Amino acid sequence: MTHHAHAARGSNLEGRLVWSVLLTSAFVLGEALAGYLSHSLALLSDAGHNFSDVLALTLSWYALRLGKRRADARRTYGYHRVGILAALANAVSLVVIALFIFWEAYQRLQSPAPVAGGVVIGVAIAAVVLNGLISLWLRSDARHDLNVRSAYLHMLGDALSAVGVLVAGLIVSLTKNPIADPVASLLIGLLLLWSSWSVLAEATNILLEAAPKGLDMPAVERAIRAVPGVIDLHDLHVWSV
Ligand SMILES: [Zn+2]
Repeated sequence: MTHHAHAARGSNLEGRLVWSVLLTSAFVLGEALAGYLSHSLALLSDAGHNFSDVLALTLSWYALRLGKRRADARRTYGYHRVGILAALANAVSLVVIALFIFWEAYQRLQSPAPVAGGVVIGVAIAAVVLNGLISLWLRSDARHDLNVRSAYLHMLGDALSAVGVLVAGLIVSLTKNPIADPVASLLIGLLLLWSSWSVLAEATNILLEAAPKGLDMPAVERAIRAVPGVIDLHDLHVWSV
């Protein structure tokens, strides 16, 4: 790819990120309000998850901007690690939201309060449609770009968790038993913990200067030894910035 094409693609991505932040923020506000009014923890949990997505999108937009800055005399590797710090901060916020959901779900399982199932169903359908559309939008680029691929898988997971909220809303409406609502919240909390785990692990590995995942160190060593003129090789280090 030429430098020019790179830059064009970069600003295109930046525009997409800004739009995603605005759309998701609007949705979070509506969903949180609906969750509060309908006494649905499932909706509030989903709003909490989407809020963490807003954070993640904002951080990756910020990291993209900073990453464009050149390395300077004091930061000789440039600003690449800002992305890692952003990912780490986001993973920690996911864990905090999950703990809050577990605590609130525990309280509601102890003393169930009525939930307005109709509102839950309506908002959940909107969430399924929104996440489904975004996943379709990303699907063609997901095949060759690793970042887009992880965003695509994330959106697919979000669509599934919205389906979970929808099922909870249907059960609450049909059985008049609000227990399904905190149960769905617990599942969303588990999904949050699970998705933060891989980010935490990867960010920690980079900060520990571990070799990139999937890199075959002995093969690198063999390749370097095969270069004519190389007699021996000592103390090889490989890490990612
Ligand atoms: Zn999400």
